[in-house]
Amino acid sequence: MSEPKKPQAPAAGGRASTKKELPEHFKAYKHVWVFIEQERGQVHPVSWELMGEGRKLADKLNVELAAVVLGAEGETVRHAVAEAFCYGADLVYVGADAVLADYRNEAYTAAMTDLVNTYKPEILLLGATTLGRDLAGAVATTLLTGLTADSTELDVDADGSLAATRPTFGGSLLCTIYTLNYRPQMATVRPRVMAMPERVEKPIGRVVEHALQIREADIVTKILSFLPDRDSNKSNLAYADVVVAGGMGLGSPENFQLVRQLAAAMGAEYGCSRPLVQKGWVTSDRQIGQTGKTIRPRLYIAAGISGAIQHRVGVEGADLIVAINTDKNAPIMDFAHVAVVTDAIRFLPMLTDAFKRRLS
Ligand code: FAD
Repeated sequence: MSEPKKPQAPAAGGRASTKKELPEHFKAYKHVWVFIEQERGQVHPVSWELMGEGRKLADKLNVELAAVVLGAEGETVRHAVAEAFCYGADLVYVGADAVLADYRNEAYTAAMTDLVNTYKPEILLLGATTLGRDLAGAVATTLLTGLTADSTELDVDADGSLAATRPTFGGSLLCTIYTLNYRPQMATVRPRVMAMPERVEKPIGRVVEHALQIREADIVTKILSFLPDRDSNKSNLAYADVVVAGGMGLGSPENFQLVRQLAAAMGAEYGCSRPLVQKGWVTSDRQIGQTGKTIRPRLYIAAGISGAIQHRVGVEGADLIVAINTDKNAPIMDFAHVAVVTDAIRFLPMLTDAFKRRLS
């Protein structure tokens, strides 16, 4: 197979606008795939968010949307397959094998690359979770194709190429990345960046069961036992309905307790801006923003947070944003729905008391 020609250099500020003839051998690659991430019986919701996004891409390309389910034969795989149809799959590829019972990079990479080489998807999407990032990088390097990590927007270009947009230069710019010379075009997306599509009850449709040839003896990583994470304090920020967060305006770790107290009174999760993590006031799993969690709560209360772009990208999916800030010109006021211009250190205890009184 000859090497495809180098693409024309993109025009400044974007891609060359002329429609490019895609290399002949690309025609074998069709359809949009979404990896359905499941671990210990639980499908990660980011998989369904990606099915919603995959549906849009597949419709634009006029191709099928396929889900890929890997795991050991059994109820977990059957459930994931059934759910994939409820979230819009036209067909589901299943790689069911005992070697895939627990996630191990080697086994999952071997299974995924085998499926890709056999059925040739045009686009492959995975969640930017710990597992998804580990798998996507290994699959892309094994297949020698391009991967756009942590995409915030996905679209298809006039010639059918995947246009994956993500922040760059510390979040001050957005860049759109194309995989012009290789297939499949791969992208990962963080949980909650894309909206959850509606689940529609549907019967199981077309399933392609692919026999894998992976031998346990060839996998050097062995699972000896599984120790569940017992940290009950760990955040569920990404999927919380209500989030209260604090920033540098609170001035001290002691004052950050006011955020925790309000969150507790409201039955909410608490979070923070990045400097608080850097100062060691709050643990990193609570950081919201570009290099932290993306959230989509119904209500987000930000106290003493300026609303820098790197914070904004993590919260702008919230239905209602309430900013408590002494500065009426702080950047957060440009995207908050409700602005409370006051001292958060005085205001937060009053709000906490009001919630406690209401709920008692
Ligand atoms: P500040 O910008 O210092 O703002 C404090 C605010 O509190 C001000 O608006 C002030 O008016 C207000 N204030 C002061 N006193 C009070 C008071 N008593 N009551 C009420 N309001 C008060 N940041 C993130 O948050 N998340 C990220 O994921 C993230 N990723 C980054 C990645 C990169 C590569 C870079 C370069 C930066 C990143 N940042 C991130 C940092 C970001 O640029 C900002 O520096 C940070 O968000 C600012 O935090 P802040 O709003 O808490 O502090």
